Amino acid sequence: MAQLYPDAHCSLDHHSPLELLISTILSAQCTDERVNIVTKDLFQRYRTAADYARAPLAQLEKSIQSTGFFRNKAKNIKACCQTLLDRYDGEVPRDLESLVVLPGVGRKTANVVLGSGFGIASGVVVDTHVGRLSGRLGLTQSKDPIKIEQDLMRELPRDEWVNFSHRMIQHGRRVCLARKPRCEVCALADICPRIGLAETAVELPATKSRVAKKLSEKSRPAASKHGSARAGTGKPATGGPLRGKQKARGATAAQRATADRQRRS
Ligand code: SF4
Repeated sequence: MAQLYPDAHCSLDHHSPLELLISTILSAQCTDERVNIVTKDLFQRYRTAADYARAPLAQLEKSIQSTGFFRNKAKNIKACCQTLLDRYDGEVPRDLESLVVLPGVGRKTANVVLGSGFGIASGVVVDTHVGRLSGRLGLTQSKDPIKIEQDLMRELPRDEWVNFSHRMIQHGRRVCLARKPRCEVCALADICPRIGLAETAVELPATKSRVAKKLSEKSRPAASKHGSARAGTGKPATGGPLRGKQKARGATAAQRATADRQRRS
């Protein structure tokens, strides 16, 4: 994964932990692209926790309306920033315990802020992409984000927790799509058991530890031919067309059965 997505990073635009905190609250049920459009103006108008805390609620609601659930988000942002003023001198705290009790901040948001705002690996961010991919890759059997995170934290080295999420999110957006995963061009096809995908499920000797080890391998300077060469270009980082042994490993069960029949006939 590190070779496929060497530049994977948080896709919410921000210049400070406070901006990242606000962006992450806004990103609930909303795309990062939409949040970035909204925060472009928002961050010009509101620069400190005090600015948000003192803003008239209706004005803040209007500013963030297009991100959806804007009434609740505006209320949480104001209350959250008021708490920052009351308890932390307007600064964002650097520990999980303090963050998760702020209004509108759950474990996922706290992990995002600590990981991408402060560079502190407090846990693994589990969003919809990370949850989906972790299941398909056999890294977890749970659908509960908290349990998924615990499974991932057990399997991955701590210094990979932050970047692992960024890479999984990139892969989920570009290749392992929710409705139509592009397994035929996926660079992980040789280690992925494709759990939950009835039409393409394959039997692989892939254990959870083996998959986790492979996924958390550090990037090497020499980029893989089809992986990092594409990273940052906006094009899908796939394994490219499958060839030879790779093709045999990456082929679906149905494709392999067809090939066997053709060989026998
Ligand atoms: S092989 Fe398919 S299911 Fe597995 S990670 Fe790739 S796209 Fe997703």
